[in-house]
Amino acid sequence: MMKHAGLYLHIPYCAKKCCYCDFPSWAGRLGTARPYTARMLEEMREKAGSRVIDTLYIGGGTPSMLPPALMEELLTGARRCFEFSPDAECSSEANPGAISDRMLNVMAGGGINRLSLGAQACQERLLSMLGRIHTWADVEQAVQNARARGIGNINLDLMFSLPGQTLADWKETLEAALALKPQHLSCYALIPEEGTPMKDALDRGERKLPSDELDREMYELCRKMTAEAGMVQYEISNFALPGYECRHNTDCWKRREYIGIGCSACGFTDGVRYRNADTLDGYLAGEAPQEERIAPRDAMFESVMLGLRMTEGVSDALFREDHGISLREAFKEKLDGPVREGLAVWEDGHYRLTRRGMDVQNRVLVQLMDD
Ligand code: SF4
Repeated sequence: MMKHAGLYLHIPYCAKKCCYCDFPSWAGRLGTARPYTARMLEEMREKAGSRVIDTLYIGGGTPSMLPPALMEELLTGARRCFEFSPDAECSSEANPGAISDRMLNVMAGGGINRLSLGAQACQERLLSMLGRIHTWADVEQAVQNARARGIGNINLDLMFSLPGQTLADWKETLEAALALKPQHLSCYALIPEEGTPMKDALDRGERKLPSDELDREMYELCRKMTAEAGMVQYEISNFALPGYECRHNTDCWKRREYIGIGCSACGFTDGVRYRNADTLDGYLAGEAPQEERIAPRDAMFESVMLGLRMTEGVSDALFREDHGISLREAFKEKLDGPVREGLAVWEDGHYRLTRRGMDVQNRVLVQLMDD
């Protein structure tokens, strides 16, 4: 029987680099889009037929910036190279300020059934501070346009713990987002990454992050408001209406296989993790990916580290299926410490973190992985 997997396509173009972003994406390089797409199609052909695809995720960068004709080639190419499950979840990220009607038509026609919009905040001053190119009116328009084309499953990415953001701002953003009735929200606290203009500005004291207390208040507000809207928190930063959890990401956290295509794309097949050339030029020049075969003990740690991100935790049955032994056999009495401290519980065959455990997740992981 053919194995199942996810498929990730990386589109590395952006209109402008946001000041907090350290993702592999570039502004001003759209001129390479044709050879880049050709190289991606070649990589898909190299990996063709190896797996049935349950989930497709087009990320970036800004996939919606690709010329629509090239997006069409990629979507058609993916379906030529791989068999897709009939109910495959097919997502694409998009920038609300850079998604044309033509692109939405191409996406809908090519089977995209889930759109993830980088909405971030509803205040112009915060969007401009982040270096975003869109307005909140663009977000509303993009949601409406996507739905009009039958792309009914919508995620909005939102950011909190931003310099200059108040609790009232965050509440207003959550209200504006929930008013659009999305199926899914991803809410991330800003993490200042080394080498970004945001980190430099923070280091120079030109900007200041909210206090830890305010950061926690924002997170709790997000949990409360999403719950009131009928959403379920299924991962540290992800909230969804029941049945609309992102299957692509959930499969990655369950350590299922996925095929990565494009520059800096990661993949995981047959126990090997790989990462394609990090730069656009390296990828175009055919630089080989970096590969690492995951040793059995590391694979068990991965299952726990990834599984504990989810509110359902690590499934003992899935762990057994993956590693041939139970969680208890693998981690023995180390599992009991976090339970005694009220940081983890066993429930329905899953070992999961409690709400308190989620807040100190790293500490729990260190306890479990200590040799
Ligand atoms: S649009 Fe996304 S990928 Fe592009 S620079 Fe901004 S945060 Fe980074």
